[in-house]
Amino acid sequence: MASNTSTIVQESLNALFDDQTFLPDLQDETRNKAFTSLVSILSTPNHVNKSFLRIALENGKVVRIPAFRVQHNDTMGPYKGGIRFHESVNEDEIINLASLMTLKNALHDVPFGGGKGGVVINPREYSMKELHLICTKYVQYFSDVIGTDKDIPAPDVGTGAREMDWMMAEFKSIHPGMRYRGSFTGKSVENGGSLGRREATGKGVYYTFRYMLHDFLKDQRKWLEERDNIFAKTALNHADKSLTIAIQGFGNVGSVAALEAYHCKYLNNKVIAVSDRHVTLYNSDGLDIPGLVAYTEKNNGDLPTSEDELAHADVKATIMNRDDVLDLDVNVLVLAALEDQIHKENMQDIKARIIVEGANAPVTAEADKFLSDNGVIIIPDILANAGGVIVSYFEWLQGRDTQFLSEDEIFKRQFAKMKHTFDTVLPQFFGDPFPLRQNCFIYAVMKLSTILYRQGKLY
Ligand code: GLU
Repeated sequence: MASNTSTIVQESLNALFDDQTFLPDLQDETRNKAFTSLVSILSTPNHVNKSFLRIALENGKVVRIPAFRVQHNDTMGPYKGGIRFHESVNEDEIINLASLMTLKNALHDVPFGGGKGGVVINPREYSMKELHLICTKYVQYFSDVIGTDKDIPAPDVGTGAREMDWMMAEFKSIHPGMRYRGSFTGKSVENGGSLGRREATGKGVYYTFRYMLHDFLKDQRKWLEERDNIFAKTALNHADKSLTIAIQGFGNVGSVAALEAYHCKYLNNKVIAVSDRHVTLYNSDGLDIPGLVAYTEKNNGDLPTSEDELAHADVKATIMNRDDVLDLDVNVLVLAALEDQIHKENMQDIKARIIVEGANAPVTAEADKFLSDNGVIIIPDILANAGGVIVSYFEWLQGRDTQFLSEDEIFKRQFAKMKHTFDTVLPQFFGDPFPLRQNCFIYAVMKLSTILYRQGKLY
């Protein structure tokens, strides 16, 4: 995983440099130096904070749990990014995810830098009391480095509003009198969270796809037809067709994206497969997504895994193996689970021609290159899943002036922000030979380099 983002960031930086879009007014020698500085700034995190949380479990044992808070870059503003609770968390992964946050925020003009946290646990193996203790200890250990104008964590894999509420409360008691509402985002609405924050990522994921195949194509079809570009051909081949969609992951991101597709009036599409950590469910006529969402809400987030459970959910589907979702014969594959899902071993089996990254870094660098060379459009993580951090920004602003916006207003602003980014990167993508990920990275890095140069930091 560490290699995907760093390889692509490096390639994008080189492309940016060769293309002369990098600080074009500078003389060669100054430009070379500035480029070297930029590479060193972006390829290393500013701070890697690591602790071992000391936790007394309910069974009497005391354990030390590794925990991280990485602060990659604060060029755009205070560090920002989620805290992940997962057993596979490790330092390289968190550094990589923090650097993705730097680029994601820069890409969408969110005035935050990039950070990420992680705790090496499987949260399903801990009681609520233990999880509460882990959250409060996390804040105690990192209380000096986080804060409303320093570094603002949010939910990620394995965490949600409950954990953010606990953490904010601990932050408030450690720093009495300090502004605390903006110290964490993704909180419950009762604790100053924003309406729409929970759905924001999944809605944005579907919106990127819908925007490309509906809104953008509607206006730009003629222009696209004139492009001699493999990606323009892929997009045109999917325009005005009935599209089949498979979604890997049925958590906060996947289930909301599935509902958006199910209810979408702009595109003729149907979700024919969804999966979670146990199972893939398939129905070529389209799955009853609201029925499945209702079932998961009552069953600890899990999809039905047997005929009995399907009957109980009143949903018609064929049960398949968990990973079967990836290589089904569908038009669109939404990856909303974890990183590294499409890699060297399975990249040849992928049949979808459009992949949307709801998760962070779900495609390895090798698979990314292979699929892109074959004209598969990959709508990358930093473009597709930014809805979460965009609404986190709105939450942070609402916490400042304690004026709260309606859900409609939140989504209106979120989509306007994302649309602004699409309208810049999509014409570049269909107009030149780089994959969309590289276009997004180039655009984000260009913004960062201009800011850094004006601050006198590229010398
Ligand atoms: N964890 C989410 C992400 O990867 C949201 C981060 C945030 O809201 O700060 O983008």
